[in-house]
Amino acid sequence: MSGGELVLSLDFELLWGVRDHATRESYGRHILGGREAIPQMLARFERHGIAATWATVGALFCGSREELLEALPPEELRPRYANAALSNYRYLDEIGRDEALDPCYFAASLVARIAACPGQEIATHTMSHFYGLEAGASLESFVADLDAACKVAARRGITLRSIVFPRNQYAAAHLDALRPRGIRRYRGTPQAWAYRPAAGPGQTLPRRALRLLDAHTGVLGPHLYRPGGDNVPASHFLRPRAGRLAALHPRHLSVIERAMTRAARSGAGFHLWWHPHNFGAETEANLAGLDRLIAHFKRLQGDYGMVSRCMAESGGRE
Ligand SMILES: [Zn+2]
Repeated sequence: MSGGELVLSLDFELLWGVRDHATRESYGRHILGGREAIPQMLARFERHGIAATWATVGALFCGSREELLEALPPEELRPRYANAALSNYRYLDEIGRDEALDPCYFAASLVARIAACPGQEIATHTMSHFYGLEAGASLESFVADLDAACKVAARRGITLRSIVFPRNQYAAAHLDALRPRGIRRYRGTPQAWAYRPAAGPGQTLPRRALRLLDAHTGVLGPHLYRPGGDNVPASHFLRPRAGRLAALHPRHLSVIERAMTRAARSGAGFHLWWHPHNFGAETEANLAGLDRLIAHFKRLQGDYGMVSRCMAESGGRE
C-alpha cells in the first residue's frame, strides 16, 4: 500500500472558451454535445465515488442575458487585449436571452446539477475566460473579473475555493489575488518546457508537437506532484478521441494509466483534466475511455488505497 491521489478537473466554459477561434456554426454542435455528456459523466462519478472539480466560467452561472450584463465588470475595468479577438466582451451582442434560448452561452441549470452531485466542486475559470498574460490584460482588470465571478457564484450559494486559469495564463501577481478571495488552490502546468505558461504566440508548433508526442508515449515523464500545496498541477490533458488520431486513443489512455499507477505506488498525485465539449462528438467512445480510466482507478484504490479528491481537497481536508 502506498496511496496517492487522483484529481480530475473539467474546464466548463461552453462557447466562452473558444470564441476567439470558433463560432456557434463551427463548434456549436460540440458545445451542445458536451452539455449532453455532463449528466453521463456525473452518473459515473456518483456511481464510483469519484470527486471532480468543475472550473466554471462565471458567465455560465447567469440565468439570463440581463443578469450577465449586470454582473460583468464596468467598461473601464474590462481587459483591453492587443489582440481584440480574444475579448469575449466583443461577442455580447450575439448572446441570446437565457439558457433555454442560448445553451451555448448559459448553463445555470447544469451548474446546479453538478453542485448537487456528491463529491463535485464548483470552482472558477474566471468570469469572462480572462487571459492574464496577453498584452493589454491589466492586473486591475483581472481582479475585477475575479470579483465578478465570486459574486455570481455566491448569489447561487457557491463558495469558490479553486481556480483554473484560462489557457494557463497566470503569473505571481495573479496568484497573490487568490487568497484574499478565499481561493486556495490553482491548477498549474506540468514542469516540462513544452507545458510552461505563455501568451498565445508563445505556444509554438514545436511545443504543441512535443505535447502531442508526450500524450501518446509519456516521453516527458508521468508529471506527478506532491499533494498538499496551493498548486495542484495538471499531469495530463485527456484528449478527445477524434479524427485522424482516433486510432491512437487507446495508447493515450495507456500513458495515463501508467502514470496513475506510478502515483498510487509512490503516494504522489496525478491530475487529469479536460473540457466537457471534448466529449461533445463521439460521446459514447469518449465515455468508454473515461470508463476505462475509472476502472483503472478502482483497481489502484483496491491495491494501493489511492483516493479521489477535488482540487480544493488535494492533500486531504484542511
Ligand atoms: Zn478554458
